[in-house]
Amino acid sequence: MRVLVVEDERVLADAIATGLRREAMAVDVAYDGAEALEKTGYIDYDVIVLDRDLPRVHGDEVARRLVADRSASRIIMLTAAGDVDDRVAGLDLGADDYLAKPFAFLELIARVRALGRRSAPALPPVLERAGVRLDPGKRLVTRNGAEIALTKKEFAVLEELLRADGAVVSQEDLLDKAWDEHIDPFTNVVRVTMMTLRKKLGEPQVIETVPGVGYKL
Ligand code: CA
Repeated sequence: MRVLVVEDERVLADAIATGLRREAMAVDVAYDGAEALEKTGYIDYDVIVLDRDLPRVHGDEVARRLVADRSASRIIMLTAAGDVDDRVAGLDLGADDYLAKPFAFLELIARVRALGRRSAPALPPVLERAGVRLDPGKRLVTRNGAEIALTKKEFAVLEELLRADGAVVSQEDLLDKAWDEHIDPFTNVVRVTMMTLRKKLGEPQVIETVPGVGYKL
């Protein structure tokens, strides 16, 4: 799942990003509204955590433009006050959810997860193919009932392959969904992660390489 955190309080922004990365999400950060619009211009985020009171472009305006551009991203707005007017305004602008500051971090994670599921409505929360079962909520992977311990990136790659439901996923898509913007696009991390993931999943192999195109499960 790819998430954008938009928050001008840098300490808070970085803390949110770190917490979401621990949940195996790929997270980018924008520290103002203009940076948020720039990033959403070229990356399709599943969920955007959007602070309302932002410099350069206000959070309301960011939400308005995303909705106007028919963005598929789900928006959770962070409002400074638990003020009813504030919440209604945010939801009116097209936010899918809101959370008043200060919030409990676990609640934010749960809501981001729930919104991420809503952005892929046809799929059940637990993904399963070829005896491989992945539970995003519990961060649990099993094959034929046996638990498999995966790193965060292996988990994220497997999640994308399962979400594709048998379709081929390109290396670019995997980089886009499982890594953040700091990754070098010419890196071989996808290949390396795929190798260790395949090894952990064991025999017979379930991940197929489609030469020149990508991978499928
Ligand atoms: Ca703010």
